[in-house]
Amino acid sequence: MERFGNVILGGGMVAGHAAKEMVKQGLEPGSLCIISMDEDPPYERPPLSKGFMRGDKVADEAFINGPDFYNDNGITLKLNTRIKSVDFEARTLSSSKHTIGFDNLLIATGAWPRELDVSGADLDGVHLLRTLAHAKKIHAEAEEIERAVIVGAGFIGMEMAASLAMLGVECALVYREERVMVNRFPDPIARYFEDYYQERGVRLVAQRSVAQIEGDGRVSGVALTSGQKLSAQMVVAGIGVSPETGLFEGGPIEVNDGLVTNEYLETGVEKVWAAGDIARYHDVIFDRPRRFEHEDNAHYQGLRAGRAMLGDRKPFKHLPHFYSDMFDLSWNYWGDRSAGDRVLYRGEVESGRFAAWWVTEDERVTAAFTLGIPWKQAKIAADIIKGQTPIPADLLTDESRDFEELAG
Ligand code: NAP
Repeated sequence: MERFGNVILGGGMVAGHAAKEMVKQGLEPGSLCIISMDEDPPYERPPLSKGFMRGDKVADEAFINGPDFYNDNGITLKLNTRIKSVDFEARTLSSSKHTIGFDNLLIATGAWPRELDVSGADLDGVHLLRTLAHAKKIHAEAEEIERAVIVGAGFIGMEMAASLAMLGVECALVYREERVMVNRFPDPIARYFEDYYQERGVRLVAQRSVAQIEGDGRVSGVALTSGQKLSAQMVVAGIGVSPETGLFEGGPIEVNDGLVTNEYLETGVEKVWAAGDIARYHDVIFDRPRRFEHEDNAHYQGLRAGRAMLGDRKPFKHLPHFYSDMFDLSWNYWGDRSAGDRVLYRGEVESGRFAAWWVTEDERVTAAFTLGIPWKQAKIAADIIKGQTPIPADLLTDESRDFEELAG
């Protein structure tokens, strides 16, 4: 049996950034093993539905570390390896072939996309998007087809509809809600995106669900529960993800829609951390438990957990942030909108150059969304939220004020 001082279970963004940071901090060669079900070494996921999918980036640009990084630093990378059981007493992980021992364990198993639960979901041309291999397959097929149906108007749905449309595929976006991105943003922002997508030829099919995917071997269309039929040679489902907690059910780590950790990303088992999509951590900024499924979180929790495994124990203190590129729209969001009582706008939403502030009754900003505002200025929104200084509404909505002024 092999045994390592440090094992990272899951070879995604957390693993890539943790390993990079551990090397920076003087990792001893031979002391880290990364176990991954993926066929590829750790890569960034944002390009899968954006830059790579649109054809602006090649796959190699997505890798977090260079091709020789793991070898050069004495890091064992076990790809295509599915762990079937964990023994926290013996501190071992077992696949069908091997048992691997650990002193420190970082669990970064992430989340897996939900599948469409309808007949025809197993036809060729019906896709989920999580891995680079998935993205390569969709991208290659997109070159050959005319029409696609994208199910779900969350992140994957919105990004895939934009990227496929940019490749010249006629896209229909089918979602059960009244508005796109409905659980994320208020109506004015959702409406702005809807108009933008429709102007670029994306057909929006709101308040509809998929009844069946039709085809003989390969998808040829989608039947909706309303009776409507949409022709398509490809279907991409972006209907959310479920945290990969299966291995840990019934074990000593608390499972509650993810693995529960404290603010140090420590689970209840000594020297076992969890980070990324899987971790329900204690957010010290908003003083609440949170599980956050975004690149920025996986990146920064990877850095923190990597350092923690090397003995540097500090709380994870990081303002939640996510961003996207959809067609040529580039936007950012920071903070916690659920902590705000109302939304104020700086600039007209229709102009495509505005900020939205979520504020409390005592005038503190808890979250911000910026669209079309240059990064140098937009990123100051994070300082405004972290500052927690009350800012009157007339200042927040005054376009003549720089963000620097608001940050004080
Ligand atoms: P998502 O953003 O959570 O959106 C999924 C959407 O599908 C939601 O509106 C959801 O509604 C709806 N839905 C759920 N079950 C459904 C069903 N059976 N039929 C139809 N619609 C259904 O998830 P995603 O777009 O699949 O993205 C997957 C994960 O990757 C997310 O965690 C996301 O945060 C992450 N991601 C992030 C970025 C970024 O940060 N730019 C980009 C890509 C992916 P309910 O909310 O009501 O369940």
